[in-house]
Amino acid sequence: MILLAPGPVNVSPRVTRALTRGDLCHREPEFSALLDAVRSKLVRAFAPRGGWVAVPLTGSGTLALEAAVTSSVSRGRKMLVVSNGVYGERILEMAQTAGIDTVVLRSDWGAPPDLAAVDAALAADAAIEVVALVHHETTTGLLNPVAGVGRVVRERGRVFLVDAISGLAGDEMQLDAWGVDLCVGVANKCIQGLPGIGFVLARAGEMDRMAAIPPRSVYMHLPRHFAAHEKRSVPFTAAVQVLYALDEALDELLEEGVAQRIARYARAAAQLRAGFAALGLRFLLPAELRSSSITTLSLPSGLGYRELHDRLREDGFVIYEGQGQLSREVFRVANMGALVEDDFARFLESLGRALERGPASR
Ligand SMILES: *Cc1c(COP(=O)(O)O)cnc(C)c1O
Repeated sequence: MILLAPGPVNVSPRVTRALTRGDLCHREPEFSALLDAVRSKLVRAFAPRGGWVAVPLTGSGTLALEAAVTSSVSRGRKMLVVSNGVYGERILEMAQTAGIDTVVLRSDWGAPPDLAAVDAALAADAAIEVVALVHHETTTGLLNPVAGVGRVVRERGRVFLVDAISGLAGDEMQLDAWGVDLCVGVANKCIQGLPGIGFVLARAGEMDRMAAIPPRSVYMHLPRHFAAHEKRSVPFTAAVQVLYALDEALDELLEEGVAQRIARYARAAAQLRAGFAALGLRFLLPAELRSSSITTLSLPSGLGYRELHDRLREDGFVIYEGQGQLSREVFRVANMGALVEDDFARFLESLGRALERGPASR
């Protein structure tokens, strides 16, 4: 099965094999070595100049993100959420659920945020401590202006939290140069590992700042995990085998090179987009706003998502439906994972046949 969804993705046989390295207790020295290796490879891949720490957490990406959101805002202060899709709204929901005061700045789904409005919101409210933004809004495939928002946040002396769960290793992300303080990722998207582990990359000083904030959760309190990690241990049982797979996936990523991985995804997206245009499909976003790993397309008239999905599934391809207000109008094709040019060429042929069959008969 070729997975053209934004995670889980197809992984290499080498990553799958890593699952069978053997049974291991997370209180043994071999686990400490595994944890150290994963943490240092994450920093090498995404913050190669150092000055950052990585905190891997067992759970899906949402857990790592909720840990970052709920651990980062001091009592009595606020989070500004800059939202233009389902994942921005989810950050807002996390903060509100934890009882954190929020301010939200929305732009249309498919439109980047207004930097002057971000600046004005920060100027107007000194209680805002953390600004949250999604790097790659998976809802639409829009790449948000992390550098631009980061500059404003930095100038106003606030903390910048970025959900880069679907963006890390798929599109450019410069943590230091773009003024990011906390960055959340996951094993099973562009890093090409298996589902079950997320992580937070934190600027070194951030962990001390967060340690002074009273916990809002037992499991999701980031400083608790970090303190254990610094002692080469974990506070709770880790998904050991998934960490093996992440360790292997990070080796693959570092061997390929993060910049080369991003370039490979950009080539795949270009190949797919040329094919989509040739088939007469309509793109949701203009070219300049698109990421290198997801393309959102209008459903042809008379053809529902389920029918299109099922026709492609017959040929072994899994596409992804639209989310929220877009669910009836669009479908999404991701090009994340251990896939090659020929996989995408065969998918485009299958898509051509599926479209030729015309509207659903029902
Ligand atoms: C996939 C995704 C998440 C959630 O990840 P899960 O692993 O499904 O919990 C959060 N944010 C973004 C931008 C994503 O693409």
